[in-house]
Amino acid sequence: MYKAFLIKYAEIGVKGKNRFLFEDALVNQIRFVLREVEGEFTVRKEPGRIFVETETNFDYDETVDALQHVFGIVGICPVAKMEDNGFDDFAAQTVEFLKKEYKECNFSFKVKARRARKNYPLDSMEINKELGAKIVDAFPEVTVDVHHPEVTVYVEIREKIYVYSKTIKGAGGMPLGTNGKAMLLLSGGIDSPVAGYMMAKRGVKIDAVYFHAPPYTSERAKQKVVDLAKLVSKYSGSMRLFVVNFTDIQLAIYEKCPHDELTIIMRRYMMRIAEHLAKENNCLGLVTGESVGQVASQTLQSLAATNEVCTMPVYRPLISFDKQEIIDISEKINTYETSIQPFEDCCTIFVAKHPVTKPNINIIKRSETHLDDVMEELMQKTLDSVEMITIGE
Ligand code: ATP
Ligand code: MG
Repeated sequence: MYKAFLIKYAEIGVKGKNRFLFEDALVNQIRFVLREVEGEFTVRKEPGRIFVETETNFDYDETVDALQHVFGIVGICPVAKMEDNGFDDFAAQTVEFLKKEYKECNFSFKVKARRARKNYPLDSMEINKELGAKIVDAFPEVTVDVHHPEVTVYVEIREKIYVYSKTIKGAGGMPLGTNGKAMLLLSGGIDSPVAGYMMAKRGVKIDAVYFHAPPYTSERAKQKVVDLAKLVSKYSGSMRLFVVNFTDIQLAIYEKCPHDELTIIMRRYMMRIAEHLAKENNCLGLVTGESVGQVASQTLQSLAATNEVCTMPVYRPLISFDKQEIIDISEKINTYETSIQPFEDCCTIFVAKHPVTKPNINIIKRSETHLDDVMEELMQKTLDSVEMITIGE
């Protein structure tokens, strides 16, 4: 029945040149998510709206699901396209359409027509009136309500005639890439994939960095992160995942620094490396899945100590979220099941029994001086061996 989708997006704040960028980014991302859906689609931009059209067979559910992964879309309207064989024929097709669309035709409604093709014999007011009358004739239980209708039957007169009446909720947010790019610190846990999703929702493109520590962390642990990156990329588009071999730096910290400070010092090195990669890859900030008080390394004191090594802004979209709230989102975006697979994380391997929860930055800095004579070389070696994996292209 459907041959097209009308894509609705919020236009607030997107005027002038920005609007053009906003729409182009939206069109690009729609094309990106549809490339894996069976069927041939054309994505067309018109003033104030975007049409996704197809002349081939396509999987309706898959198409809607793909479109629901596109940030910036507020509504997806499945559209029926009708041949123009005169008004009566069109009205009859519309009645059939409504029969299929609604189990019970007992709603209040109005018709809202738009005549994009000006040579159509009826103008929009006339179509509203005449089509309304035909619908009332066909369904004894419907009523006309022009102010607060339960159903609006939209009609657009073009080469063919487009009819739609339902709107499926979109993902909201802003189109990817309209707000720059950031580097996500992606672990195998529950939180960081959600953090990446949330930044992407506001139009931020994502690259990611994962720290692993072979042989203490396994290939499976790394594969889990690749899997999570793929799941996030369904929303965030293609991304580059940088895999950092962190073993030597972790061992050096373990050997030379006080054990209750290991986690903080290790996290400071993670941030330094992440920032280095972020700068190299045109990212404007870092993103983590941290949330106040969740673990010892996420007290305000610990966050301050970790943050102190960064010159870039660090975005922590989950900072005030409870664990259950984060889990709810991870279930919604389908990362939860993967996140809870039990594989070791580099953070958990060298943890102290009693990590400091209120680190003093000056003391931490002094402890880090124990690494002075090895760190430059270790850093260089680590950065030289970064592996890059392209996800979702
Ligand atoms: P998550 O569930 O995201 O792993 P967490 O509650 O386990 O978070 P931490 O282990 O303290 O918390 O990590 C805090 C944040 O640091 C993570 O959300 C992530 O952004 C980053 N991070 C932690 N470990 C790694 C890692 N191995 N590689 C990349 N980033 C990491
Ligand atoms: Mg973790």
